[in-house]
Amino acid sequence: MLEEAHYYFQKAADVLNLPDRLREILLTPLRVVKVNLVFDDDAGQLQHYQGFRVQHNRSRGPMKGGLRFHPTMDEDHAAALANLMTWKTAIVDVPFGGAKGGINCDPTQMSQRELNAVTRKFVELTKDVIGPTTDIPAPDVNTNATVMGWIMDEYSKYAGFSPAVVTGKPLHLFGSEGRDEATGRGVMVVLDEALKARGKSWQDIRVAVQGFGNVGANAARLIAEQGARIVAVADHMGGVSNDDGLDVDALNAWVREHRTVKGFSGGDVFDGPDVITWDVDVLIPAALEDAINEDNVNEVKADIIVEGANAPTSPVAHETLVKRGVLIVPDILANAGGVTVSYFEWVQNIQQFSWEKERVDRELTEIMRKAYAAVSEVAVEYSIDMRTAAFVLAIRRVGEAAKARVYTEEDIQL
Ligand code: NAD
Repeated sequence: MLEEAHYYFQKAADVLNLPDRLREILLTPLRVVKVNLVFDDDAGQLQHYQGFRVQHNRSRGPMKGGLRFHPTMDEDHAAALANLMTWKTAIVDVPFGGAKGGINCDPTQMSQRELNAVTRKFVELTKDVIGPTTDIPAPDVNTNATVMGWIMDEYSKYAGFSPAVVTGKPLHLFGSEGRDEATGRGVMVVLDEALKARGKSWQDIRVAVQGFGNVGANAARLIAEQGARIVAVADHMGGVSNDDGLDVDALNAWVREHRTVKGFSGGDVFDGPDVITWDVDVLIPAALEDAINEDNVNEVKADIIVEGANAPTSPVAHETLVKRGVLIVPDILANAGGVTVSYFEWVQNIQQFSWEKERVDRELTEIMRKAYAAVSEVAVEYSIDMRTAAFVLAIRRVGEAAKARVYTEEDIQL
């Protein structure tokens, strides 16, 4: 996965004619932490998981990135996703660097007590390298506000009251209005820009969404609110489709109760992976990596893809789609709404002052539109696709910050 993340970086670095020395500086993570989490499960058996935190770059500020609890989590995943966070925070121009981490556990098979224990153990073993001015975790796949609340509580035992150590917390524990839906709202806003670029309106489009968790469900709801039809949705259990448009509110209510779209009666059942090749105008991959790959790319029908997930498109698939003229709004732009409102949450925590939701939504929308415009401008400047342009913009910003902080003109020439 790291190789794939580096592919896009190198492509943009070629556009900028970046010297090898600078490529190495920008690609090398600052710190890689691996911890062993040993604890008693509910049956009194000793369990053993591994936790990871990769801190990639802090040129533009404290490092920031989610924590993913998933059996596939490993150092390579954490490193690749940390790398993406460095570019993402630069694109939306929030004063953070990039980090990512997680635990190789499967929360769907664990009780709340076990999850609580393993989360607290992780904090105990990483407390010296995270903190409000060093590295601030946030939710990702299979982690949520409850887990973030535990992290704040555990860290505060060592460092004193520290709400700003983690974002995505519950509202009644110094979380921010609008954080839970922020990534989905950002996806909706950049889709609005993409539609304008392609001369389409909300009423024209049929949309398919892969993944119906935090990102996919919120994006689907907000996109449906604009007047578009969500015609197919899938998660890890299966898919549900309705040509007239799914009732997204009813689907959300079903998923809250059943934790899957499977079984929802407001549509027809289909095999989950088929959602990627559904006959739609817009595809939103919002689950895991590599959803659009060599095997299915030739069957993809959408001509706008908005990447809610991180790294959902393999490099081969990306090149194929770009050649075909598909507009891909890349992950490091499309899903940056989450880290943007995480930034707002951090600001509110530091100031001990709360914003109204209207302000959060307004400022998020402004930042996402500005970032989309900045990336489009670079795409036009160099005649390149939006993903390469996003990397070019981010590399410039991170490179300039690194240069201004540490290096001399001889070290870094941009
Ligand atoms: P989540 O755990 O809330 O939801 C994940 C969804 O993906 C679930 O519906 C799950 O069933 C589905 N899924 C898992 N495996 C699948 C498969 N093989 N096929 C189809 N669906 C599958 O996670 P999330 O927070 O919504 O994150 C989703 C993606 O968005 C991840 O790539 C994450 O890194 C990225 N992301 C999340 C945020 C955020 O704020 N939560 C921010 C930026 C990027």
